[in-house]
Amino acid sequence: MSKLAICPGSFDPITYGHLDIIERGARIFDEVIVAVFNNQSKSPLFSVEERLELIKESTKHIPNVTVDSSAGLLIEYAIKKNAQVILRGLRAVSDFEYEMQITAMNRKLDNKIETLFMMTNNQYSFLSSSIVKEVAKYKADVTDLVPSIVAEELKKKYN
Ligand code: ADP
Repeated sequence: MSKLAICPGSFDPITYGHLDIIERGARIFDEVIVAVFNNQSKSPLFSVEERLELIKESTKHIPNVTVDSSAGLLIEYAIKKNAQVILRGLRAVSDFEYEMQITAMNRKLDNKIETLFMMTNNQYSFLSSSIVKEVAKYKADVTDLVPSIVAEELKKKYN
């Protein structure tokens, strides 16, 4: 049976930290679906359609990655797709408590789907979409933090 992992998140926008987890996941699993979940409480900068386009463009070099979005519950999405794994990245201790809560809830809803965590690459341990937006707002250079197409779109948003 081929192994499918869902890589869920807001991706507002995708950063090199996300991309690193996606690339490493794609080496382990037969297929990885990057799924955009629209978390309205985070007041997104990019629309879901814009985020999908940026992820598609940034992952087009990885053949076993597809991109999708969902407005529903992650675990229901994972069941519908027949995924075995939910793949998340961990940056710091500060991520841990939140991730543990979500993982426990998802396990309660379906105990056959495993949540796996990958430690961030050291060079991205400080990197988040929020910090990128904060920096881009002040017109600072973000080319080391996000794919070039994302840097261009950030520039347009803040001009
Ligand atoms: P969410 O709103 O679900 O936290 P994010 O877009 O912020 O969505 O993150 C999606 C996933 O990518 C999460 O598992 C998060 O921990 C991971 N991630 C984000 N930034 C990094 C990074 N710099 N290094 C490793 N993982 C990361």
